[in-house]
Amino acid sequence: MGLIVKEIPVKSVLTKSNLPVADYSVNPYVGCAHGCKYCYASFMKRFANHPEPWGDFVDVKHWPDIKNPKRYAGKELFIGSVTDPYQPLEETARRTRALLEQMQGSGCTVSISTKSDLVLRDLELIKTFPNARVSWSINTLDEAFKADMDCAASIERRLAAMKAFHDAGVRTTCFISPIFPGITDIPAMIRRAREQCNLIWLENLNLRGGYKQAILDYIAEKHPNLVPLYDAIYRKGDRRYWAALDDQMRRFCQEEDLLYVRNDDSIRRPFHAPPIVVNYFFHEEIIPSAKKKRNKPAPVVFE
Ligand code: SF4
Repeated sequence: MGLIVKEIPVKSVLTKSNLPVADYSVNPYVGCAHGCKYCYASFMKRFANHPEPWGDFVDVKHWPDIKNPKRYAGKELFIGSVTDPYQPLEETARRTRALLEQMQGSGCTVSISTKSDLVLRDLELIKTFPNARVSWSINTLDEAFKADMDCAASIERRLAAMKAFHDAGVRTTCFISPIFPGITDIPAMIRRAREQCNLIWLENLNLRGGYKQAILDYIAEKHPNLVPLYDAIYRKGDRRYWAALDDQMRRFCQEEDLLYVRNDDSIRRPFHAPPIVVNYFFHEEIIPSAKKKRNKPAPVVFE
């Protein structure tokens, strides 16, 4: 069955955000054709009126012209919290581009999250926003594993797009997420991306909702040797794997001369300094001091 596309009118595309990293979240689409097997957005209530499987439908949002965009000056817009703003449909629907055109010159900051290289089309436009940032989620260098998990652009295309933005002077983030225990090779990925990004975020695989069993079945089929580890983490709630990985990453970053932080350090960095590695594991459970600080993002400033 092909993708089911609907055009929907909405009152506004800007939503006040509870996310620690932004003032507003912006999702020009409902649903996402990338259909990642581990997509946390897939079980959200707002999709309840869609009987189709996640990945098979996309609603295209149409909003009225944004009145007085300048009132968003100094605010951060996070584009793509529950959809990919550069999924294939954007090539023709151009709703993400429309949003950027409406906000251009307003003085707001944009932070864009994608798994696509279609964002290259809008590089010149994105560059006009102060302190723009684009992040690519990548959790493997193995294209076969990637193909098992999502329908998005290849890893090499994502990395090439990241490099093009970094070369153009736009801040880039390599978002290593979700980290699959025993599968995601974080050191290899950091070595591959370190010359072309400003931040490296690490986020563990979280299994919730309906996709938990699908992922566990996949592991049983393709990586049977990892079943005991996944059982321990995702059925028994054992967090020791993440604590050990945290230690391992701290040592690795020391050896590689990279700054390794959690989410609470205030840092000023020149644009071409090596990237900062930020750990977003189960903070509140592994790190006692993190609970009260977890709403505070790392205020990294690039000069
Ligand atoms: S790209 Fe993001 S929003 Fe789209 S399916 Fe994958 S995880 Fe979900």
